[in-house]
Amino acid sequence: MHVRTLTGGLATALVMSFPLLGGQAAAAPSGGTASPPAAARVLTYDASGAAEFKSAVDRGAAIWNESVDAVELRPAASGQRADIRVLADNGWPRALPGSLGKGTVYIGRQAVSQGYNTVRISSHELGHILGLPDRKPGPCSSLMSGSSAGTSCTNPYPNATERAEVEENFAGAASTRTPLPAPRAVPIRD
Ligand SMILES: [Zn+2]
Repeated sequence: MHVRTLTGGLATALVMSFPLLGGQAAAAPSGGTASPPAAARVLTYDASGAAEFKSAVDRGAAIWNESVDAVELRPAASGQRADIRVLADNGWPRALPGSLGKGTVYIGRQAVSQGYNTVRISSHELGHILGLPDRKPGPCSSLMSGSSAGTSCTNPYPNATERAEVEENFAGAASTRTPLPAPRAVPIRD
């Protein structure tokens, strides 16, 4: 009788623990509203038009996710309008930034055929969408030195300065709620 009482108590404790675990499911953030300062701003990207460069684009996005806390790049769900469109074409790689965190990126085959690294191109162009300008000429350690670092440069990682700049771009937008920069219609070549 004493044993049965203990067993019953244990079973109750186990049952009680499940609702707590179930309560951990996170709600998906909805777009369009300012995020709390501590949360990463989620940007969706659509690489379905990136053809043979799709995996390089995914890698470039993952590199940014590893490198900064303030922003997170996620593949858009099918049918979802993405913040960033990534396309392959036969021109030179370039970006058409809209407001911060939005725009279109072209992974141009012209540079790829000359021997430039596709993952570096991808993270470089995504860097433009995250608000970074070109820094040319520059060393291979700089992501935004782009093609000026030569075809032998395969570094796809932003340096400390570039990481800090992106953190600041997005932290500032979230915490002070200052207006985002006006959309720019001018493409950034390379
Ligand atoms: Zn560039």
